[in-house]
Amino acid sequence: MDYKCIFCDSKIEDRSIEHIIPQSIRGRLKSPRLICRECNNKFGSQIDMVLIDRFKLIDVCLELRKDSRKKINVEVDYDGKKYILTPQGPKMKSPKALPKKENEIIPEMIFPSKEALLKHVKIMRKKYPEVDWENYIKSAKTEVVPIYAELNFISDAPLIETWRACCKILYEYLFLIKPDYIASNYKYKEFVLGQCEYTAIAINLIYIKYSPFKINRDHLYHIITIEGRKDEKVIIGYIELYSCFKVISFIDTDYKGESFITGYFQDLMSGDFGVIPDLEPLPLSKEDIVMAINDNNIDNIAPAYKESFFKTATKARLYPIKQELEEIKTFLLTNDFPNQQEKLKIVLTRLLTEFKRLGIPHTFKEFINKGDVPIDNELDNIFSLFQILLNLFQKNELDFKIISELVDLMN
Ligand SMILES: [Zn+2]
Repeated sequence: MDYKCIFCDSKIEDRSIEHIIPQSIRGRLKSPRLICRECNNKFGSQIDMVLIDRFKLIDVCLELRKDSRKKINVEVDYDGKKYILTPQGPKMKSPKALPKKENEIIPEMIFPSKEALLKHVKIMRKKYPEVDWENYIKSAKTEVVPIYAELNFISDAPLIETWRACCKILYEYLFLIKPDYIASNYKYKEFVLGQCEYTAIAINLIYIKYSPFKINRDHLYHIITIEGRKDEKVIIGYIELYSCFKVISFIDTDYKGESFITGYFQDLMSGDFGVIPDLEPLPLSKEDIVMAINDNNIDNIAPAYKESFFKTATKARLYPIKQELEEIKTFLLTNDFPNQQEKLKIVLTRLLTEFKRLGIPHTFKEFINKGDVPIDNELDNIFSLFQILLNLFQKNELDFKIISELVDLMN
């Protein structure tokens, strides 16, 4: 069977695998027969880049395991200073200009750790051998910005371009689930292609109240749902990226087919993906959506979006330690230990390693240098780390059931 590119209508000779949710934001859903190679390349460089930029803060915070992709630099502002965000926490940005003369005053720099400072000096020493590096090391500071710090991050990606990228995902998903779909008008496609403005057709609305999962799951998701309504002659698409960017969109306003509803999810933490079971329709009528869209002012939406974005980013920084707690639980349940002491030592070491990796402040400074766990009262030490986590989880509205499960396993 011949396939046509859904965007340019040319025959697809040379199949290229299209990631419906772009790979750049860790999407897994893909199809080999939706768009031609040329469109795929064009969109890859334009539309996908917008999503990378929009979500890079969350992406860096999340640091999913087993991911070898090169890390992107994200500049953040904290306390009036510029930092580069790393999975270990914010790192002071290196000053661009370095002293050339021996007696010149060396700018003060702040590093997340002594190791990071020495590593930086080792590289720079080769480049600028004339600099007094011993003095430089003395004048530099080391500082850890706590994991719960309020970071200021400004994305360059305009909101409308982000909507356009979301519309592309919805449009492709529709063709994936209904390959025989024939559009009643081409406005939607035109918007994706940048040939008309969103105001010309008013197709987007950021709608925060809807959640396709009946239970509010404490994970990070990409979600797409598509609903065709025979009675109202509409196809409505809903997309949620990183559990925080939620958009409802009219894909077709003169739909002639049968009613249907279907949804896809991808859990970014566990790697699960598939169809959402027992999907409930969008709780809004066509009129509701039209009314909401008419009130929809991009300036009014921005603060709500920003708030939900930062909430998600802060949570994202804690997800890796949640994953580690789950692994510790499995480890405790599936292994035998010679004695209680041995078991506690292993747990304490794993917890401290994770705290260090994520830059969560705690009082066991010695560990960082010696790579050893503080002896005596392992149980007390473990509980005090659990207490720090509990506070962080509660503060960021994360489910903390796993902590009480671990407390039970410790006793
Ligand atoms: Zn094409």
